[in-house]
Amino acid sequence: MRSSKLLRITLAMTLVALAACTAVGETPAGTDVPATGTHTTPTLSTVATTTIVTTTTLPPVPEVPAAPKPDPLPPPPGQVPPAGVGGVAVIAAGGADLWDDRSGSPFVTAHEGLVMAVEDREGDWFLLRTMCDTRAWAEAPQLEFTSAVEPVSVGQGTSFSEAVVVLDPGHGGANHGAQGPTGLREEVVNLDIARRARDLLEESHTVDWESGIVYPGSDIRPVGRVWLTRTEGPPNADYEAGLLFRATLAGSAGANALIAIHNNAAPDGPFEGPGSEIFYMFKDPDSRRLGGLLIEEMRRSFTPFDVAWMGDLDAGAKYRLQEDGETDYYGILRRGLVPSVISEGAFISNEPEEALLATPEFRQAYAEAVYRALVRFVTTDDPGSGFTTPYLRTNDVGSGNARSTCQVPAQP
Ligand SMILES: [Zn+2]
Repeated sequence: MRSSKLLRITLAMTLVALAACTAVGETPAGTDVPATGTHTTPTLSTVATTTIVTTTTLPPVPEVPAAPKPDPLPPPPGQVPPAGVGGVAVIAAGGADLWDDRSGSPFVTAHEGLVMAVEDREGDWFLLRTMCDTRAWAEAPQLEFTSAVEPVSVGQGTSFSEAVVVLDPGHGGANHGAQGPTGLREEVVNLDIARRARDLLEESHTVDWESGIVYPGSDIRPVGRVWLTRTEGPPNADYEAGLLFRATLAGSAGANALIAIHNNAAPDGPFEGPGSEIFYMFKDPDSRRLGGLLIEEMRRSFTPFDVAWMGDLDAGAKYRLQEDGETDYYGILRRGLVPSVISEGAFISNEPEEALLATPEFRQAYAEAVYRALVRFVTTDDPGSGFTTPYLRTNDVGSGNARSTCQVPAQP
């Protein structure tokens, strides 16, 4: 009896979501819910009634893949790209020599499959922004080049196939991120979630907007292009990547949105429902809207998981500022060239949530939240909700710049 079970889950998540919203002092659900856009997006206050009359039409629940697809093979070498500045370069099969300047010897042969932002071009020479936040020259025949696009304006009437998005799996290499009580590392979880979201974005789907179930279908076409900031080449994409690089890549790609995928640590305490947090760019209305859509979809994805959640008192979609009161605190938002958000899905430092993050089901639910939020961001005018006023934090999370020891992964 899948339908009745789903109904119970949906009703339960509605009630818990309402309780969680109240607990963090938000506007009561029903007043800050999104307007209906291209899709019939249910409001929290109407889910219970509309679900009851539509249980017979619920779609089949797709199987959760055990693991996302591997990264694509590196492109063949020797493609000479067209003229133009900006864009994205992928290191071609066999690797690409990188020069500090265009004399002497290359300082490294970069690993095939790596992605880099293109900042300038002189003839067949490309000036790249590397994952170490540095600049390096490379020659066109060793790269596959994708021109920058002028971002399409998002909103109702826009086709998802016109959009370009960047998914940014947080941390990597020497920068492990947060670690769970039993040793699960954020960098590993973040990458797997980002790849699952990429796989969803690259295929056609239909979404049941009552239940949130994402299944194979033809309603939503594949996104125009999705880039990951960390890719193989190197096994498990386990290398350092600075925040300047990550933000620059999104700008060079002409992305409509960047979502930095993270998981959290050091909550204030026990929480009724998932304590997910989204940080958006203080001065960017599109980033704020994306944050509000992502928190809605994240709560929808996570609430059915019944664990001892932890959270911060100001959980929700919020900004965080430096002491000057107007500059974004987090580097990737401060340097953001496109609407960008940081997604802190679950508290990996909380053992029950760490256990969830270890499962394919929860990672897939996270990826589906990212997918649905991006679909709504691009193709509807939904405003998002779940916005909270952050309280002042004084702990230092570091600059996020690549360390001086950072090295561009070398072709073996
Ligand atoms: Zn993180």
